[in-house]
This record gives sequence, C-alpha cells and structure tokens, in this order.
Amino acid sequence: MGRVLRVLFFSLLLICPACQHGRMFRSRFTMNVRCPVCGIVFERGAGEFSGGMAINTVATSSVAVTGAALAFVTDMPVWPLIAVLTLVSVAFAIWFYRHARALWAGILYLTGSIRED
Ligand SMILES: [Zn+2]
Repeated sequence: MGRVLRVLFFSLLLICPACQHGRMFRSRFTMNVRCPVCGIVFERGAGEFSGGMAINTVATSSVAVTGAALAFVTDMPVWPLIAVLTLVSVAFAIWFYRHARALWAGILYLTGSIRED
C-alpha cells in the first residue's frame, strides 16, 4: 500500500513514478516522452493519453457537481452560479491536465504497463 501511495503522490507532483527524480513535463502542456533521469517511457501507446483525459473529466465533473450543490444551500441566483461554475470548471480542467496525465502514467507504472527497460 505504501508503494501505491508513494507512486501516486509523486505522479501528482509531476515527478517520474519510477525513479522519483525526473520531471514528467518539459512545458505546461508537453509531456516528456522519456524520463530525463531513468529513461522510462511515460506513454508507450499513441492513445494512452485518453486515460489521463478520463481522469481529468471525472475530476472536473466532480468539481462542477460539488459547485452545483451550492445552489441548494445558498440563495445565489442560478445564472451567475452557472457562469461561475463554467469558469471554475474550465480553469480547473486546464490546471489539472498535467496532473491527470501524470496520474495515469503512475497508474500504468503500478500495473506494469510501463517499466524500466
Ligand atoms: Zn524516472
């Protein structure tokens, strides 16, 4: 259990789940193909980014639903609430993009789909 939490923790910090030293992203939206320290390939298949997109969709939807629950406990008018939720959801999805892809790479590492060669 400790290994799982450690790998997911380092993945959320955008650090290689294998060596826990290399950076997974070289820019805001560009993931390194290989870890600059240990050389592990983060996404072996062309469509593996879709797992990260699924994580991002679930997380963003959870934020939006939680925010929508505010309509039941506040007297905030509906249209401003929808506008705020839209802005917050879009901003969250953009901010969480790297973390979702890195988390997916960590899950792939845990399942043995990516490994040191
Ligand atoms: Zn590494």
